Amino acid sequence: MKPIRTLLKETVVLGDGGYLIELERRGYVDSGSGREKVGTGKGSGQFTPEVAIENPDALRELHREFLKAGSQVLQALTFFGTREKLNRAGYGAQTESINAAAVKLAKEVAGQGALVAGSVSRTQLIEREGMGALGKARDHIAEQIRLLKDAGVDFLILETFFHLAEMQEALQSAAAAGLPAVATMSFRPLIAQCTDGHTPAECARVMTDLGAVAVGANCGQEPTRMLPLLREMRAVAKAPIAAQPAAFRTTDLCHSFTRQPAFPDELETIQVSRKEFIELGKAAKAEGIGYVGGCCGCNPAYIRALAIGIAEAR
Ligand SMILES: [Zn+2]
Repeated sequence: MKPIRTLLKETVVLGDGGYLIELERRGYVDSGSGREKVGTGKGSGQFTPEVAIENPDALRELHREFLKAGSQVLQALTFFGTREKLNRAGYGAQTESINAAAVKLAKEVAGQGALVAGSVSRTQLIEREGMGALGKARDHIAEQIRLLKDAGVDFLILETFFHLAEMQEALQSAAAAGLPAVATMSFRPLIAQCTDGHTPAECARVMTDLGAVAVGANCGQEPTRMLPLLREMRAVAKAPIAAQPAAFRTTDLCHSFTRQPAFPDELETIQVSRKEFIELGKAAKAEGIGYVGGCCGCNPAYIRALAIGIAEAR
């Protein structure tokens, strides 16, 4: 496979979908809803990636399904894999082994057929402790990025950041490690701004200036709801736009599916159909979105739909 920077220049890069929600449905990931109120962004044990060491076959199989669906990138399941988040889930001592195993599995399945991206998300420290915890968050993110680099990822996807300030720390850590990074923010409760008050356009400008190879948004909302904010970003960003929306329907009053009552145990009731992802694939091709995949709720059927949309637009 060509490096991510080259692929982005040549084509609409087709990513993969969401792992944690799909593996929760398959019985291998804990949503945390049995212990606490989930969806505050401040949670502890929910949706962590220990499946990489506890049920590697389940993760391997989902990687295979995304590859078969056409994904040119497989994300190692290292989302919520900082020592901080894993500590609170009771897996802190396995931080090294979970990150290493997740990358190894993705690389095994990808072979020469796909790139492997390390997924790095917010720590949740800022949501719980405030901006004063930014230094601590930076140290945890930098540690995980070093682990991912040692494990041999091709690039990073920095995703589901609520605060631009924390994303800036992550981009600086990625640059220090010498790894290219796709950077995507999550906007909530409305797509108008991120949690520390920056518009999508401001986020795009800052992330581009910090060297992101593509900038955009992930998770949060369904494609039709996300498209307007992507257009705002595209108007100012010099880097390609990246989009990995969720497959869950949101409302005009709240653009975030994790704040809907259906999260996390009744998501089936707000699932959008894969047809919306065929339309997203067409829009990606027509409107110059450089990297497109899915987040929560996007299983391999949705990635096949994206591939169909991209192909139909040609
Ligand atoms: Zn998501």
